Amino acid sequence: MKKTKFQKPTGMHDIIFGDQKYFQSIISTVEGVSDYYGFSKIDTPILEDEDLFLKGVGEATDISEKEMYTLKTKGGDRLALRPEGTASVVRSYIESGMANRPQPVKLYYIGPFFRHERPQAGRYRQFYQFGLEVLGDSNPVIDAQIINIVYSILTDLKLKNISIEVNSIGDKECRNAYKKTLVKYLKSKSSLLCSDCKRRTKENPLRFFDCKDPKCQAVKAEAPKIIDNLCEDCHSHFKQTLEYLDGLELPYQINPCLVRGLDYYTKTVFEFFVTTKEGKSLALGGGGRYDYLVKLLGGKETPAVGAAFGIERIMQAMKDMNLIDGPKSKDKVFLAQIGILAKSKSLVLIESLRRAKIPVVESLGKDALKIQMTKASRIGSKFIIIIGHKEATENSAIIKNMETGRQETVALDKVVSKIKKG
Ligand code: AMP
Repeated sequence: MKKTKFQKPTGMHDIIFGDQKYFQSIISTVEGVSDYYGFSKIDTPILEDEDLFLKGVGEATDISEKEMYTLKTKGGDRLALRPEGTASVVRSYIESGMANRPQPVKLYYIGPFFRHERPQAGRYRQFYQFGLEVLGDSNPVIDAQIINIVYSILTDLKLKNISIEVNSIGDKECRNAYKKTLVKYLKSKSSLLCSDCKRRTKENPLRFFDCKDPKCQAVKAEAPKIIDNLCEDCHSHFKQTLEYLDGLELPYQINPCLVRGLDYYTKTVFEFFVTTKEGKSLALGGGGRYDYLVKLLGGKETPAVGAAFGIERIMQAMKDMNLIDGPKSKDKVFLAQIGILAKSKSLVLIESLRRAKIPVVESLGKDALKIQMTKASRIGSKFIIIIGHKEATENSAIIKNMETGRQETVALDKVVSKIKKG
């Protein structure tokens, strides 16, 4: 294709044509399900103080180390394009005094996020996520409910072959003790680790479990797991969460190596996958509990749990399964017109059809009937409405049933009821 003068930035994309159907159906499903479960929508700025993410997401994470888009404003503030949603939601929870409202506070968001990643299939530099957050409740039933709500969203979208992985990464007490055990183990295997994991051993040892390098896999399999080192409180929280998931009959499995890429998680963590037609596993999203984040960002200690899902990934899975069946084109009525007066009457008639939820296709800008009829037959509409010069002056229209070949002239204000009758 010829290079145009301007192209979209590397790793970014337009959502156009058929993709919008998928995009919109995800948005409306997220809105409908979140609303049903009592979540209120929150929209936060795309830009935030850079430190919010450095602190919130953690300095020794891929996001903070290499993926953040940052800028210095003319006033000298250092801002970042948001790489994820939770830190912004927590900032708003603290700043707008949501802690003084009845707890828990349940919020959801949908919007664009930015990470300066190496562009590759399914990985963009601007991508959309939706997320749900429950702040102010430590009960494991909420962990299970969040997992169930996202499962409901995905199954309402008719996605199949979904699997859920869960783990617990403990709290301050047991994780710190466990980290020491892990570091000791990793140091003893240092010669077998990739250079990234050697660094992680010092900076953020749990991230070792995210390593995909084949070199580290054997060390991973033998490594002590956090799930076997939980304190009593974390153990019973996890056990209870799993029991609720069992009650919901959700397709989950425990993955003792699941730690998630962000620093703020405590106790429950989870990830959702879908198996594509080619048998590949596609990560759709994940989440977990983050009981220390509100305090870390300057609020009171507040238990919380949430989830974030990638909308492009869900679109990809839906396309892979051919899941959208919008109105079939044959259900759409075609409206043909001849002349200025007929065009004017058509504009009014389309409004009546829209209010009656009858999908209509037209070619208002065209004058020749032949061109319009060719388009109508390409669409395969069952009904064609024709407003010619005569009909326009008489306030009527011809309705042609293309299946039976019958046609009749009806008053313009009877067109909708006639089409509805079929
Ligand atoms: P994370 O917050 O990193 O766990 O991301 C949650 C979900 O967002 C992932 O499972 C993906 O579905 C999606 N996601 C994250 N990063 C990207 C990206 N660069 N491009 C597209 N989707 C992404």
